[in-house]
Amino acid sequence: MVASSNDIRTNSDKSSIYEDRGWKRSDPVPDHIYDIHKSLVEEEVIIRSEIISCSKQFISKIEKDQPNPEKPRRIKRCHYVNLCPICNNLLEQFVEKQMNPYRQVLLDNGGKNILMTFKLRHNQKSSLKHLQKVLKDSIKKLKDDNIWKRTLFPSKYRFYVKTEYEISWSEENGFHPHCHLQIGTTNPMPTDEMKSLVALAWKRVVTTVSPNKFFIPNLSNGVDVSDTPSGKHSKDKDPYGMDALKKMQKKSNKKMKEKFKKLNAAESERIKGSYSLIQMQSNLKDIFIPVLKEIYRTTVKRFRRIFFNVNTHHTLISKISSK
Ligand SMILES: [Zn+2]
Repeated sequence: MVASSNDIRTNSDKSSIYEDRGWKRSDPVPDHIYDIHKSLVEEEVIIRSEIISCSKQFISKIEKDQPNPEKPRRIKRCHYVNLCPICNNLLEQFVEKQMNPYRQVLLDNGGKNILMTFKLRHNQKSSLKHLQKVLKDSIKKLKDDNIWKRTLFPSKYRFYVKTEYEISWSEENGFHPHCHLQIGTTNPMPTDEMKSLVALAWKRVVTTVSPNKFFIPNLSNGVDVSDTPSGKHSKDKDPYGMDALKKMQKKSNKKMKEKFKKLNAAESERIKGSYSLIQMQSNLKDIFIPVLKEIYRTTVKRFRRIFFNVNTHHTLISKISSK
C-alpha cells in the first residue's frame, strides 16, 4: 500500500517503531475510533485542519519524566473533545477511570448508582441548537432545584454526579438531544419514588426554561430512572454490540461497513429507527451524513459534554484510597 498523509498514525503506531526503541505501545484509543475519524474526514463532516491532523504526528514531551520517563514523545492530539472522535473517546475513558473507584466504594457500602435520562418533546422541525439550549439550561436549573438539592440528593446522600449529553436522531422525529445523569447516592428512598418526584420537577423546570410550550415533556416520557450498578446505559449505549466490535481486529473499512449493515437490519426493529451518534458515525449511510454535518456544525466548542463531580463532603470520601 502506498503511504499517504492519512496513514501517518498507522505507520508510526503499527510499524516496529515501538519495539525498535523498546517502547510499549500505549495508545489507548481503539482502532475503530481511528476508522470513524478517517471516514468523517473523507465525507467532509470533519473540516477543521487541526482535527483532521489529530493523532498523526508525534510531539516531544515538554516534561520528560511524565508519565514514562524513557518515552520522549507522545502522540499529538487536537483536544477538540466535542468535534473529534479520537479526543472524545479519550475524554470518555478519562471520565470513566475517574469515576470507577467512587462507584465501587459506593456499591460496596450499600449505595446506589442511579441513572436518569432527561428528554424533551420535539419533532422533526425542532432545531438542534434550540433543543440543546433548552436541555442544557433545564439540567442546570434542575440541579439547583429544591427537590433535587433537599429531597432527592442532599449533600449527605449525594456522593457523585456524572453528567453526559448525547444526541440521537431518527428520521421520524429528528434530533433528540438528551442528558444522562448518573448519581451515586446513599439515599434510602426507593427508586420509584425518586422517579415520580424527579418527573414532576423536570416538567416544571422545562416549563420555566422553554418559551415554547411544545417542548414540555409529559410525566411518563420525560425522565427514565433506573438503578444501574454497572453505570452502562444499556438502552442507547451499546445496542449494536460496539464492545464486541472493539475487540474484533478490523480488517478493512469495507468489512466494517458490511458488519454494520447486517447489524442494522437485525437491530432496526429494537431501536425503532433511532440512532446514536456512534452508530451514525460507524455506519456512514447517505442519510446520516447531513445529520452528522448538522451536529458537528452546531456543537459549541466550549460546551462540556461529559463531566464528573464528586461531593467531597460525603462520608464515603474517607474510603477512597488516595494515590
Ligand atoms: Zn483530536
